[in-house]
Amino acid sequence: MQKEVLIIGAGPSGLFAAAELIRHGVDARLVEREVHSHHQARATTIQAGTLEILDSVGLLPPFIESAEQVRCTRIYGPDMSELRSTTFDGLDCCCEFQSVLPQYETERILEQHLVSLGGNVERGVTATKIEVDADDLLVELSHPNRSTEQVRPDIIIGAGGAHSVTRASMNELLEGATYEGHFLVADIAMQAPLPRDESGVVCGPNGLILLSPLPGGRWISFQDLEETQQTVSVDEIINGVEARLGARCRPTDVAWFSPFRMQRRIVSRLDDGKRFLIGDAAHLSSPFGGEGLNAGLQDAYDLAWKLAFVLRGHARRSLLDDYAIERTIADRHVLEVSDQVHRGIVDIAQAVRQRQEVPAAVTDPLAAALQRNARAMIDVDYAGSPLIADDHGPGAVRTEPHPGQRYPDWRRFGGTSHHLLVFGAIAELESLRRFERRWSNRVDIARDPDVSPARAGIPTGGMVLIRPDGHIGFRSRAVDSAALAAVDRHLSSYLIRRDPD
Ligand SMILES: Cc1cc2nc3c(=O)[nH]c(=O)nc-3n(C[C@H](O)[C@H](O)[C@H](O)COP(=O)(O)OP(=O)(O)OC[C@H]3O[C@@H](n4cnc5c(N)ncnc54)[C@H](O)[C@@H]3O)c2cc1C
Repeated sequence: MQKEVLIIGAGPSGLFAAAELIRHGVDARLVEREVHSHHQARATTIQAGTLEILDSVGLLPPFIESAEQVRCTRIYGPDMSELRSTTFDGLDCCCEFQSVLPQYETERILEQHLVSLGGNVERGVTATKIEVDADDLLVELSHPNRSTEQVRPDIIIGAGGAHSVTRASMNELLEGATYEGHFLVADIAMQAPLPRDESGVVCGPNGLILLSPLPGGRWISFQDLEETQQTVSVDEIINGVEARLGARCRPTDVAWFSPFRMQRRIVSRLDDGKRFLIGDAAHLSSPFGGEGLNAGLQDAYDLAWKLAFVLRGHARRSLLDDYAIERTIADRHVLEVSDQVHRGIVDIAQAVRQRQEVPAAVTDPLAAALQRNARAMIDVDYAGSPLIADDHGPGAVRTEPHPGQRYPDWRRFGGTSHHLLVFGAIAELESLRRFERRWSNRVDIARDPDVSPARAGIPTGGMVLIRPDGHIGFRSRAVDSAALAAVDRHLSSYLIRRDPD
């Protein structure tokens, strides 16, 4: 039987989308044009907000085991004088660090997870053409033996990266700009002047170098290159590192390396109702922010629950429109945060190189502290989306977290359904029981005395609806039949009850 959902591209975004769909009860077909997995370090930083998501699906242990944990990032000027630091200590998250590991390891863990759930990657299969034929999608797949296959999926998830065939078929462009400057990424082995639980950018008269620890005593490094330099040799990489860090820091091995340019780009629409773009197919952000791969995993996590709810008849089709609304908010925020980090680094590097004073704004410790939650990617706020409502009542003080933000303790509930957290005595118990019956299999009621209402943004009690992705969908400061009717109306705006009355 042909599967309804076709995912094109088995990079991190496509692999996680396939696994998440299975977890939500939907089988998808995943095709990847490369016959073999690659061995390139590429994107290495997994942010705390993504680790929390991975934890919610049981994947935190393999990531922790396979990665170095970075607790602080610093920017240094000449002679290793510290100019700025961001520590992840005290982050209100299950992980107060970034995990740094080669992208091939991330893909290995995600693929193993997919296989453990019963899925697989069809390797060597390229989507060569996507057409819309009388409102149906028609996809041509080319196989390693040169045969072609035509399929008609109901839904395509475009996860093919920056050159996505799905995006091209939607006539969507990655609009934005390429940053000035030319860079080199290299996976190197050496004795670096940094602790193994920190990453750093060193800015000196000979240019900048970013270092982040990789398992096995290695480092992922970025150097700036001359604008005109198109190719780089291993000797040039080694000499470049030494010129920036001094003679005691000479790489003993250079594995994968690649010159690259940085981009700030995003599509104007993430979907057309049948084709959905995730990851680099939809947006490109400066790698200095370390958010691109993370944003792709978060797109996949978000799309999977919405798509699965619709395909399983648990939600109205309009829920699919909310994927684009909400992820456009989040992905634009990723571009902004990465842009701030990018400009901060480049401004410092330029000032140091030209022997000018480093701009005070970029070394401001308060600004660095404020940026911490954004860099950890735990500050996504969907306020303004149709899936978010606040029944706050007249004169109520607006407290945080508010609807649209992440509920910090969301992982304790798990599973794939919504949770209604009820704090305080319920005068009309029968109304709650009726609500529970109406939404059985869609919404679990949680009345755990160990859960603090203040952590859910309602210090004086009430009700808070937590969505499957951990974000607050609705809150009310009352627990009565009127408040339950308001939650009911909110849920009915996008979910379909199991047993309509
Ligand atoms: C130097 C550098 C450093 C970076 N560092 C970080 C970092 O530290 N943290 C971070 O979060 N991000 C980082 N990024 C960004 C990150 O690399 C990307 O955001 C991430 O790889 C995107 O994953 P993806 O799955 O969306 O796309 P990709 O990784 O590009 O995967 C797309 C897949 O689709 C396949 N494919 C393409 N077309 C077809 C087709 N027609 N049919 C079948 N298969 C197809 C491809 O072969 C590929 O396997 C960095 C980027 C660069 C350049």
